[in-house]
Amino acid sequence: MGKSALITGVTGQDGSYLAELLLAKGYTVHGLIRRSSTFNTERIDHIYQGPDQPERTFVLHYADLSDGVALVNLLRDLRPDEVYNLGAQSHVRVSFDAPLYTGDVTGLSTIRLLEAVRASGIETRLYQASSSEMFGATPPPQNEKTPFHPRSPYGCAKVFGYWATVNYREAYDMFAVNGILFNHESPRRGETFVTRKITRAVARIKAGLQDRLYLGNLDAVRDWGYAPEYVEAMWRMLQRDVPDDYVVATGEPATVRQFLEVAFSHAGLDWTEFVRYDPKYERPSEVDALIGDASKAEELLDWKPSVRVQELARIMVDADVARLEAELTGTAVRVDR
Ligand code: NDP
Ligand code: GDP
Repeated sequence: MGKSALITGVTGQDGSYLAELLLAKGYTVHGLIRRSSTFNTERIDHIYQGPDQPERTFVLHYADLSDGVALVNLLRDLRPDEVYNLGAQSHVRVSFDAPLYTGDVTGLSTIRLLEAVRASGIETRLYQASSSEMFGATPPPQNEKTPFHPRSPYGCAKVFGYWATVNYREAYDMFAVNGILFNHESPRRGETFVTRKITRAVARIKAGLQDRLYLGNLDAVRDWGYAPEYVEAMWRMLQRDVPDDYVVATGEPATVRQFLEVAFSHAGLDWTEFVRYDPKYERPSEVDALIGDASKAEELLDWKPSVRVQELARIMVDADVARLEAELTGTAVRVDR
């Protein structure tokens, strides 16, 4: 019999790519989704399997990370070989507006899930989606030994989740690992993160539907990688003999301004004609520079990224142009990339 996995955050960018990866490897994949008043499954609709399908390998379950009892029940019933905790309020700017909620869902929920593993008495391996935002103000390059100095409620919550994962590994001998992932993007990235906000605007400006793009700090430096490659690293962490923590990054820095230049010029546009400053998008405390050193992942997981920021920007612009064209012409919208 093949392995099984539970993914929290399966409707998100990473959850959708990870579900595809695990299905391709022959896993039975269980996804935790939360109830919403509108559909929230756009990123996974193309892999949906209906109840009429014999021997379903992709099954969705309603639950919420704030509901510890539901997590225990789910784990006890499913007994997955692997658990990937990707669910979170994942937006840094929003975490300043909803700090307690972010602390609960992004931070406390990690210990809810770890405790649910213990309470359900199952043997499993757990991946925690930790973040480069934990490094915050500590200057680059950042690796597994770099001290944390978070600069947002989101970063603080992720530090809590990181240490909870380490603690359960040490206290209960659990196979629990942290992937400390630097920013990773794709055509499925949430529309309010800066890369996708830019590539969506490029498509709309080119189509004549928009003439301004309002942004905040253009000087921030990020290490942007390609999400489908990053979910492969998550899986590799859980296949090791011993649990450990790994940085996943490209090591290549770019400013928001540089991303703008590549994205607009790929569509034959000059960004300076369209981009305007809006202080609304500044954060009360900013993370100036994140540049990862992923040599441990390269050595022990044999993992190396191939898509760099320039190609990433072009992939995202092409996808947003194609998506908009499909919307405007009433043809099916592709989400399968
Ligand atoms: P997304 O924001 O795209 O997805 C977040 C997922 O969490 C969605 O499926 C969302 O559901 C779900 N979720 C939110 N709140 C709850 C809740 N209360 N109960 C259950 N599920 C919930 O994030 P990404 O895919 O980009 O990131 C995946 C994980 O990796 C996150 O934990 C993120 O913080 C972390 N991370 C991401 C990085 C990146 O650059 N992308 C970098 C480092 C870490 P819904 O669809 O209903 O909103
Ligand atoms: P983050 O690194 O997880 O905060 O990812 P984001 O994509 O949200 O932001 C990356 C960087 O872009 C941060 O330094 C932001 O301050 C900067 N930025 C500048 N303008 C914007 C904007 O309009 N929206 C967002 N989300 N970020 C912006």
